This record gives sequence, structure tokens and C-alpha cells, in this order.
Amino acid sequence: MAPSAPRRESPVRLFATFSLIMLVGVVLLGLVLAFSYRAEATRRGLAEGRSEAVLIAETAVAPRLDGRTLSLGLSPVEKMDMNRLVRAAVKSHEILRLRLRDQSGDVIYSDDGSGLNGSNDAADLGKVLDATHGTIDASITHINSDSNDSGPIGPAAVEVYMPLLAGTPRHQVGVLEIYLPYSPIAADINAGLESLYQNLAVGLGLLYLLLVGISYAVGRRLRRQVRINAYMVEHDALTDLPNRVLFHDMIEDELAQAGPAGESTMIAIIDLDRFKEINDTLGHHNGDRLLIALSTRLADHLSGLNALARLGGDEFGVLLSDVADPDQTLRELRDVIEREINVGGLPLSVEASIGYVMAPTYGTDVDELLQLADVAMYSAKQRHLGVVRYHPSQNHYDASNLALISELRTAIETDQLVLYYQPKVRINDSRVDAVEALVRWQHPTLGLLQPDRFIPLAEQTDLIDRLTEWVVGRALRDLRNFGPASQRLTVAINVSARNLSSNVFASKIVEALEAAHVEPHRLFIEVTETALMTDPIRAAAVLSELDRAGVRLSIDDFGTGQTSLGYLSTLPIHELKIDRSFITDMLEHNGHAAIVHSIVDLGHNLGFTVVGEGVETREVFDELAAADCDVAQGFLFTRPIPVDALISWLDQFAAVDASTRR
Ligand code: C2E
Ligand code: MG
Ligand code: MG
Repeated sequence: MAPSAPRRESPVRLFATFSLIMLVGVVLLGLVLAFSYRAEATRRGLAEGRSEAVLIAETAVAPRLDGRTLSLGLSPVEKMDMNRLVRAAVKSHEILRLRLRDQSGDVIYSDDGSGLNGSNDAADLGKVLDATHGTIDASITHINSDSNDSGPIGPAAVEVYMPLLAGTPRHQVGVLEIYLPYSPIAADINAGLESLYQNLAVGLGLLYLLLVGISYAVGRRLRRQVRINAYMVEHDALTDLPNRVLFHDMIEDELAQAGPAGESTMIAIIDLDRFKEINDTLGHHNGDRLLIALSTRLADHLSGLNALARLGGDEFGVLLSDVADPDQTLRELRDVIEREINVGGLPLSVEASIGYVMAPTYGTDVDELLQLADVAMYSAKQRHLGVVRYHPSQNHYDASNLALISELRTAIETDQLVLYYQPKVRINDSRVDAVEALVRWQHPTLGLLQPDRFIPLAEQTDLIDRLTEWVVGRALRDLRNFGPASQRLTVAINVSARNLSSNVFASKIVEALEAAHVEPHRLFIEVTETALMTDPIRAAAVLSELDRAGVRLSIDDFGTGQTSLGYLSTLPIHELKIDRSFITDMLEHNGHAAIVHSIVDLGHNLGFTVVGEGVETREVFDELAAADCDVAQGFLFTRPIPVDALISWLDQFAAVDASTRR
């Protein structure tokens, strides 16, 4: 089942719901406050009743008693005094009823004659018992209108049971049961409640308005921020162009509109050449200005087509439908880019490599199409072709390779890669003072994979950087374990064009050397001519940086590329390795023999050591010696072997060599 999209709530609805919830909350708060006030007011009313009863007991009742226990009854004088007191008090509505009880609860005196019949209910007796233990009990009740507590319900009263102390010294003679009018207390409470309700209503109303106002303001801010965030998720902050996310959606929409049999859609990736140098030399600030100027220029050129995006760094995407001549259109775009541009007073011109793919010819999956356009762009960059249309022949990304590439990522992390080593043998004295590290992949199901199976794949992505980093780290670690000869040995590692285009490559190498405590001159970097020529200026800069750090440089597979000698002479080179295609058959092929001789001479004239690669027979070795070549490398000595095998090989070779010299 397709996942359902999250439901979008309307802001008005959300606000109304929120306001209603707050209203309920505020009303509840009001109820709780009113309820607790009422409870508190009643508690105070009872406390007031209690103190009033105590006052009456002490100032009015006790002085009229002679101190005998009430169970003996009242004397006629006491009774008369009592009647006078109570009647006056009842008349002035200070009290409603007064009874005196003895310790066992029997009513001894009652102003209205109620309760004298000896019938006590259990609740009354409980209160009397409490009072005999010193507790003053107050509660709200109703006085029945007849003297037997059985008539219609009378006025509300505060009923107090309390110990009655009299005589000198004061001692408990019985229990006073007194009923005070509750109406003045209730009137107080009600008046308090009324003003509380008014204040509460105003206060809570204001609180509610404040909360609603705050929530409205916060809601508005949030909505604005959400809109800004949504825009930023889809746009590039520097150029304000759609970013990769939106470009992806734009392609998806375009393909959906065109339908499966629809007209052709062109997806292009533009990558600026040497932009890194502009950034490095003129600063990021100017690099940014250049990008902004270029994006304005491109957008103007594509005006109204809404087809341009910045994919990141110096990479732009273009999406066009139904273009008659895509190649021509993109060449024009490239010309637009290459026109001089003024940045901070400096007239600059940048070049661009453009790769594109046609859809639906090569599919409708946006990610795949972008990857194919990237493959074409990389091919344009490598071969300096300007604009390249994607063709499957450029692509190393078939399904099995795609799987392999994702496995390679984990392989690097989980140490499935292994380094094999092949010695370089000095021709004049048969000594080995250098080895070349060649990577292999011990694949869990496919067995030992040779570099040509996976290096080209890694080179199409940034995986090659991680791979090279791994190789450098491992080679430097191994170098310390090469046995007795290890102090003299140097190790060579192979690097790719893409490594040389990285800003941090040289510094990472230096860091690795420091971490492994290996002197820089013991590391050789082998670079093929093709790799050098992918971005010659950038490569020269990286190699000079390495040279300054003391690392040595070797040109690999020499003779197969198109490096100009002028360019070579500017590079800090230490070694030339003649490609094995000239060496292996130099005895049979006069032309190749001549090339080998010339390269040796050329190398020596430029001050380089010259290595012959692919030496498989003694005869070829002798021929190289005759040509005055310095070093030989090849199966004649050994194939590339793992580090342990290399250590024994080095021992054995040194021993054999010593014995032949003896
Ligand atoms: P390369 O750097 O030119 O390495 C020499 C290649 O020639 C090695 O192949 C080696 O096994 C082979 N070879 C050596 N002597 C002989 C011989 O007498 N006869 C023949 N027929 N072949 C010989 P390998 O190990 O398969 O490597 C192939 C290429 O893969 C290397 O060429 C290098 O360009 C690349 N490579 C290897 N390891 C790495 C690495 O760690 N990083 C990068 N970027 N590339 C690597
Ligand atoms: Mg090599
Ligand atoms: Mg080579």
C-alpha cells in the first residue's frame, strides 16, 4: 500500500481548535479556583463559628455555672440565669439554640426544650464524646423548627460541640452544644464569591485573550518560517536557483507530463573547469561572486524556461524539453559561460564541461538519469570535449557494477582490500630498493579481484579518494614491516586523476606520512600521463605541493599518453616508468626497442630515473641494461605478491644476489 501523504491542516482550523482548547482550559481553571475559594470560605466560616462559640462559652455560659458537673443538673438560679442569657441572645439573633449536655451526652439544659426527652442519635453522641476529649467540632446544619428536631427544616446554622469548662479552677463540667446563625457567614461568603467571580471572569477573560493573541502571533511567525524553510529546502542560498532537490522534482514532473511515449527531455550537467583554482587563488568570496554572475547569465540565456538549477559547488543542471539540436543548444550555453566575466575588477573566463542524457531513451528514473548525465560530463571533462551526449559505451555503471560499487564502499571500511607488492630491481647491481603497491580486493563471493575490475568504478565516484587514502595508510604501515631491508626501501602507490583534483589530497598524504612516522622521500606517487592531462594545471599544483613536502613523483605507463615534453619538464618528476607495451616485446619489435632507447635517453637528459615495466624474460632485462635503463620491474623477478611473501622474497633475492656476486 502506498504511504499516504501527511494531512495538511488549514491554519484557520488549527487556530480555531487551539482557541477552543484554551477556552476549555481557562473555564476549567476558573471552576477549580471558584471551588477552592468556596471550600476555603466555608472552612473559615466554621472556624469563625468555633471561635464565637468559645467566646460565648467562656464569657457568657461558664460564669453562670457554679462548677458542678452538669450530670447533677442545673440549680434553679443557674437555669434562670441561663434562660435570661439565651433568650436575649436568641432574640438578638446572635444564637439560634443552646444546649448543655453532661459527659454522657444527656441534654441537661435546652433553651427551647428540644432534646430533653433523652433521645440522642449516634452522631450527636459521637460529637459529645469528641468534645469530652477536648475537641471542638463545628459543622453546618439546619435547625428543625420544632423543639423535637422533627419539624420542617429551619434556617442554616453552624452547629458547635465543645467542652464546657467552669468553676475555679476551670474544669470540664459538660459539653456545650450551640447553634449560631449561618446566614451572616453565608452572606460574607457569597459577597466574597460574587466579587471573586467578577474578578475571575475579567482576569480569565484577559488571560484567554492574551493566550489567543500569543498563539495567533506565534502561529503567524511559525507559518512564515515554515514557508521560508520550505523555500530553502528547494533553493540554493547563494544563487537563489532551484537546488538539486527541486531539480529532481522538476525532472520528475517533466517526465510525467511527457508520458512514456512523450517527446525527448534533455537533462544536462554543467561542471566548471578549474573553478577550484579560482576559489583558491581569488578567495571563496570572489568564487561566490563568479557563481552568482554566471547563474544570472545562464538564467537570462534560458529566460522563461525555468530550467536551470545549481546542483552544488560549481555544478549546474539544465532541463529542456523537445530541443531540436541539444548539442548545439548546449554549445551555445557553454559559449555563454565562457564569455569574459568581471569579478572584483578582474576579467575572468571559465570553461565548462557539459554532459547530457536524453530521456526517456535512457530511462525515466531521475536518479539514474542524473548519474548518466554525470558520466557524460565526466567523459567531457576527461577528454576535453566540451559537450558530450551520454552513450552506454562511456558507462561503467551496468547493474552488476552498480552493486559492486556499493560493496566497495563497505569493502574499504571493513578491510577487504589487500595490497600486493612488486619489487623494482636496480639493473646495474640487482638490488631492490623500491616496491610498488598494487591493490586487490578479496571479495567475499567473487574471490580476489584485480584492480582493473574495480578501480575504474571507484574513479567514477568519490570512492577513489577513500580507496587511495586506504592504500596510502596501509602501504606506509607495511613499509615498516618489510624486514631488514626496510630501512632502505621506498614504496610507490598509484593515484588517479580524480585524486589530483582534490584540494586536500596533498595535505592528506602529508598527514598520513606523519601519522606513520615515515620520511616523505620514502613514498613515491605514481601518476599516469592520462591522469596528469585530465586537469594539468591542477595536477601540477598538487604535485608541487607534494614535492615541497618531500614526496617523490613517478610518471607511470609513460609513452602511451599525450603529455607534452614542455609540460613534463615543469613537473617535479623523479622517475619515468616506460609502459610495458613497449618493453615486453622490444626484442621482436624494433620500433618499440627504439622508443625504449629514446625514452631512456630523454629521461636521463631531464634528470629522471628510468624504469622498464613488464620485464618477463632475462633477454628483455639484458636489452634494458644495454639501453642503460636504471630499474626493471616485471614477472621475471616476481609477480605482485602479498606483504609476507614479499618479505621472504626480499630475503631470498638478497641471498641469491650476494652468492652470485661472490
Ligand atoms: P600499473 O601501475 O602500471 O601497475 C603495473 C601493472 O602491470 C600491475 O597490474 C602488474 O601486475 C602488471 N605487471 C607487472 N609486471 C608485469 C609483467 O612482467 N608482465 C605483465 N603482463 N604485467 C605485469 P595490476 O596489479 O593488475 O594493476 C593494474 C593497474 O591498476 C596498475 O597499473 C595501476 O594503474 C592500477 N592500480 C593498481 N593498484 C592501484 C591503486 O592502489 N590505486 C590506483 N589508482 N590504481 C591502481
Ligand atoms: Mg604503477
Ligand atoms: Mg604502469
